[in-house]
Amino acid sequence: MSGSRWALVAHGGAGVIERERLKPEQEAAYRAAMATVAEAGAAVLRAGGSAMDAAEAAIHLLEDDPLFNAGRGATFTAEGRVELDASIMDGRTLAAGAVAGLTATRHPISAARAVIEGSDHVMLMGEGADAFARRQGLEQVEPGWFFTERRWRGLEKALTGAGLPIPPRPAGAGVDDDRLSLVHDEGKHGTVGVVALDANGDVAAGTSTGGTTAKRWGRVGDSPIIGAGTYATNRAGAVSCTGAGEYFIRLWVAREICALVEHAGLSLQAAADKVVQGQLTALGGDGGVIAVAPDGQMAWSFNTAGMYRARIAEGEPLVVGVFGDEA
Ligand code: ASP
Repeated sequence: MSGSRWALVAHGGAGVIERERLKPEQEAAYRAAMATVAEAGAAVLRAGGSAMDAAEAAIHLLEDDPLFNAGRGATFTAEGRVELDASIMDGRTLAAGAVAGLTATRHPISAARAVIEGSDHVMLMGEGADAFARRQGLEQVEPGWFFTERRWRGLEKALTGAGLPIPPRPAGAGVDDDRLSLVHDEGKHGTVGVVALDANGDVAAGTSTGGTTAKRWGRVGDSPIIGAGTYATNRAGAVSCTGAGEYFIRLWVAREICALVEHAGLSLQAAADKVVQGQLTALGGDGGVIAVAPDGQMAWSFNTAGMYRARIAEGEPLVVGVFGDEA
């Protein structure tokens, strides 16, 4: 997988994604969604757009698609609301932006990007982050926008298991359309991410998530933490992670993969495998990563049963994967 001019890899979360648990129509829906997302990002790159633009545009689709745990379709906190996290990093400049705990911004990845372009900061959280996004002109939505019955049932199950009370449904929780019946519960989490290499040789990585089901006390995972869930440098590559954030934070997974490429001379795939199959597995964490390097190498690695994923590059066909036994 090397020698491409532009390239893009996307993930829609890793977890308990097994053939026998996924109905054929669900599998088809997830495959089609990943293909659409990769093609949308590729269209930006093909037209000469930047890696940052491609990552943001592709993540918009994933955030709006209720099949994935990000934006619409995000998991709920124990209080029955969404707290959305996202981050994005530009490998050319090392500019990075992140937001945590958004409750009203439709596209958290754009809020993360706005932190780069509209503030002197790297990370904003909570009400202030939503207020900042609003001031930046980013679309705000009612709590009902994010609601999906499937995730709500996941919350009820988690809270019942933990002996916690079930909160009231969010205001404006809508009626499910047909697509929502296809949502697959791949465990207690999920995340979306895109890494891209543009025709200028610049890489970028973006990640967006609802975090873990029934999270409490303002819990924040790895996804909005630069170095943990997201990292990009033209000296090594761009990485986006999905999985049990508490493990990814301590292993600094995204940065560690880049460091192994930059300082130890590992190939991108070898670095990703070393961290995911080696360090992450040894620590007891589950999840996966996607990565792209400035020379066109693309990689993914996960230690879960599956990961929704797609990759595409100039001169190479689109590849979509769901289960662990696919290329
Ligand atoms: N990494 C996310 C978090 O810990 C969840 C996931 O990707 O499954 O918040």
